[in-house]
Amino acid sequence: MPPRRTWWTFIALLIANYLVMRALFPDADAPVTVPYTVFKEQVAKGNVKAIYSQGVSIEGKFTTPVPWPPANGQAARDDTPLWRAPAASQPSQPAATFNTTLPAFVDEGLERFLIDHQVEISAVPIRTGSGWGTLLLGFGPALLIIGFYVWLYRRATQGGGLGGGMMGIGKSKARRYDQEVENRVTFAEVAGIDEAENELVEVVDFLKDPGKYTRLGGTAPKGVLLIGAPGTGKTLLARAVAGEAGVPFFSLSAAEFVEMIVGVGAARVRDLFKQARESAPAIIFIDEIDSIGRARGPTAIGGVGEQEQTLNQILTEMDGFSGREGIIVLAATNQPDVLDRALLRPGRFDRRVVVNLPDKNGRQAILRVHTRKVPLAADVDLSALALSTPGLSGADLKNLVNEAALLAARRERNQVHHKDFVDALEKIVLGPERPLLLSPEDRERIAYHESGHAVLALLVPGADPVHRVTIVPRGQALGVTYQRPQTDRYNYPEGYLRARIIGMLGGRAAEEVVYGTKTTGAESDIEQATQLARNMVTRWGMSDKLGMVQLAPRDNPYLGAAGAWAGSKPFSDQTAREIDAEVHGIIQQCHDEAKALLVQHRAALDQLVEALLARETLDEHEILQVTGLPPSQPLRNTPIAATD
Ligand code: ADP
Ligand code: ZN
Repeated sequence: MPPRRTWWTFIALLIANYLVMRALFPDADAPVTVPYTVFKEQVAKGNVKAIYSQGVSIEGKFTTPVPWPPANGQAARDDTPLWRAPAASQPSQPAATFNTTLPAFVDEGLERFLIDHQVEISAVPIRTGSGWGTLLLGFGPALLIIGFYVWLYRRATQGGGLGGGMMGIGKSKARRYDQEVENRVTFAEVAGIDEAENELVEVVDFLKDPGKYTRLGGTAPKGVLLIGAPGTGKTLLARAVAGEAGVPFFSLSAAEFVEMIVGVGAARVRDLFKQARESAPAIIFIDEIDSIGRARGPTAIGGVGEQEQTLNQILTEMDGFSGREGIIVLAATNQPDVLDRALLRPGRFDRRVVVNLPDKNGRQAILRVHTRKVPLAADVDLSALALSTPGLSGADLKNLVNEAALLAARRERNQVHHKDFVDALEKIVLGPERPLLLSPEDRERIAYHESGHAVLALLVPGADPVHRVTIVPRGQALGVTYQRPQTDRYNYPEGYLRARIIGMLGGRAAEEVVYGTKTTGAESDIEQATQLARNMVTRWGMSDKLGMVQLAPRDNPYLGAAGAWAGSKPFSDQTAREIDAEVHGIIQQCHDEAKALLVQHRAALDQLVEALLARETLDEHEILQVTGLPPSQPLRNTPIAATD
């Protein structure tokens, strides 16, 4: 590659970088545009000492910074649904330097007004601006983009990834962490995600002695998919597996595979696997696999050819393993549902390990790990800290410790105090990223909601046993009650369906019983319950009034329920009204029953809430212990009546 082009690339990158940085981090002291009326208000208050006017624009400084746009604290709070994290509002920043524009009508009194308020007025001649500068500003971005494409094109067409400066494009960018004793990561550094950790012990075992599994004809694991939110420790876990087994670790982010030049991704994969094979046993870690492993949909646009090639290369490499090489591919994703089925087939990523956000005890353990090398003052209470950080991931907690340590250093302390942690937490949580610090009232309400679901699942015969209840926010949900089916069911008795609806409505019912008011938190519960009740009436013949008539099509896996009968319904309006009434009736009955049961078992409900507030997550055993209720009852067996 001629040096001249390298220079141009360099300069183009510099400019692009500058523009991006400007967009992302606007200058702290950049003037904030305020309305003309606000400007006059501030002058009237004596908060402006001097202004510069240029044409119709006025610039100046507020003596005391004015927050702009004004924080709309109260209003935002009231119409924010309780159960959804409030949308990050536009941050209000204190305006020290402001500008404003004179309105089109002539404000004749302005000069007098300013002079009366002792504002020093300076006029600045209107800058003509260099013609070149304006031109560049106008066309710059377009030129940059064109230049970039030209550059890409030439890069791709010259030398095919081999010649001169092109060397190394096909080489994998995989970082190799050789596991020397010093910087080796072990399970001791992973905390709070024990379930995931336990599932990977077998992988460690295999890597230590690959022959052990295959000797007796068993199949060795090849690929493990780690599923979890960002920062939950997937990468850490993968490195720890390598560390525990004492094997090298190759990591690559799938997003890095995808270059614009077709064929490079596949070449990288080939190279990565080759490197790993040479130092087997080894671990290959592919981060963000969803960025190349997306299901190939009909709406795919440019760049897919490359993704597909890269993905196919990974699959080819994995299929090529005999299992004796001792190479295991770990891949991480936070959206498993978008992955191409081909990835999940046996012999590929057929093992899935879910990495959950840590609960209270988990968070405490993670804090302990990350404070090992931090001098803590005696007043630091990690347990209290863990309690007040629901929703934070391992990476967030690590960040919290780091921020607290920085803060303590800035405060010239020799130890990190509890106050440093609290302040650091505030900074992290109240930042735009995570509006998830719940008030004690909200937490209690969520606890009642989830406890309502859980208690009813125990009380109503036929309901699926409760497996876990948590008030750790997860995705959209601020709390979750997990139930697990007792057996694989292929056929659902009516009693089971009713039990489910009662359970689904239990969250809202508990809120009503305890607070007497409603919130938006039951939206998805209501949606699911309605759907189920409607199916009972229209598809499963469970309404005496309407009988066994099919009134809705089967779910069409491609078109959804609406697909088959699109638009025209094969029944009268009268029937439609009856369906609605029946669905309504089922919901009403179940809701009444849910409330009645909760009133009757209020003590169990309160006990569960108290335990949840303290511990956040309770498992099946703990729930039974706390509530004193018997385990979920199976439906009474209805003897099969002989018919003749
Ligand atoms: P992911 O790959 O899931 O996005 P990472 O493994 O990259 O998350 O996490 C980033 C950092 O956060 C880790 O290097 C580690 O220091 C810290 N961390 C995350 N989860 C945990 C955990 N469960 N225990 C200890 N540290 C953690
Ligand atoms: Zn609910």
